[in-house]
Amino acid sequence: MLILVINSGSSSLKYQVLDTVTDEVLTSGLVERIGASEIKDHGQALDLVAESVSEVLGDREIDGVGHRVVHGGERFSKPVLINPEITRAIERLAPLAPLHNPAAVLGIRAITAKWPHLPQVAVFDTAFHRTMPEHVWRYAVPDELYSRYGVRRYGFHGTSHDLVTGLAADYLGIDRQNFNAVICHLGNGASATAIRNGESVDTSMGYTPLEGLVMGTRSGDLDPSIVTQLVMRGAFTAAELDTILNKQSGLLALAGDADMRAVTEGAAAGDEHAELALTSASYRLSKYIAGYHVAVGGAQAIVFTAGIGENSIVFRERVCAPLEVLGVRLDPELNAVRSGDVRRISTEDSAITVLVAPTNEESAIARAAEKLIRD
Ligand code: AMP
Repeated sequence: MLILVINSGSSSLKYQVLDTVTDEVLTSGLVERIGASEIKDHGQALDLVAESVSEVLGDREIDGVGHRVVHGGERFSKPVLINPEITRAIERLAPLAPLHNPAAVLGIRAITAKWPHLPQVAVFDTAFHRTMPEHVWRYAVPDELYSRYGVRRYGFHGTSHDLVTGLAADYLGIDRQNFNAVICHLGNGASATAIRNGESVDTSMGYTPLEGLVMGTRSGDLDPSIVTQLVMRGAFTAAELDTILNKQSGLLALAGDADMRAVTEGAAAGDEHAELALTSASYRLSKYIAGYHVAVGGAQAIVFTAGIGENSIVFRERVCAPLEVLGVRLDPELNAVRSGDVRRISTEDSAITVLVAPTNEESAIARAAEKLIRD
């Protein structure tokens, strides 16, 4: 089946056409500056996509569309076939994801207008974390914040955590229902997830993707009084702090660069800012892994994935070093291997197996779309 995977932003549209039989990417691209250029809206962006897709596909036709939708709120716990009611439900979740959900709706409506008969599937970043128990997803705040404003922990990167959980369990020959692990999705955005019996029972991102780990440009965990006090003092507006914490913090704030490659190179060359950034980010993740080891009742595996997780030998080493107290032992030679396959990087006698596994959110979205369209 040929699936067009769409990741629609407020001013951009990222796409890939995948053959779900071979997992081959037939074409991919990005339309940017929608609304700020001659491309006036998502409909026009889609015209451009259709043109370049038809050049590549020739006589073959797309069978369906899979949309990455950031927020599924409390309603969506798995991918769904889109109809007008589902589209409105995604739209109603806009207050929880003001940048992302309205953009996804624009993408869905543009496809509906252009190809009304093409089945469309929504795949939600939050859905995989719907299995978290209430004591994990509740913040210890008055109920009104939850019941009126939807303030609770949702978690993100679910498509990736779900896929990588399956890959790791398969690699280790463990039934997914019996598999306990900590999955570390470390890209520009980063989150760790506690997996118990194959399901998410805790995750480091919360109400928004700002909570948790030190990321490329996001601060991760901090004391909320930082925000309230600075606003009350008149030092910054809430909107300015939103930008500071999401776009100007994390590795960028500590090291002057959001890219982990530059940070590890800087640290190796003796730059103390880069060293601080590397130590902060790895320390935070080590703490989460140790906590989640307890949360899952003993992890069988720690799994690294996404840009940093799959590629940064140094970052994995830094994260695992303090975990030696739990009996975790990395094998330096295996850690240095570069490969696109699932692989073990811990020693045979490590108390917890450490793996690297490649994530592929587009392929997971395409497969989820195919499954619903076929059924
Ligand atoms: P992603 O969001 O999954 O595409 O990951 C992007 C991040 O992966 C980049 O910001 C880099 O910091 C990081 N990355 C990619 N390749 C490497 C590498 N060889 N070493 C360290 N970090 C890397």
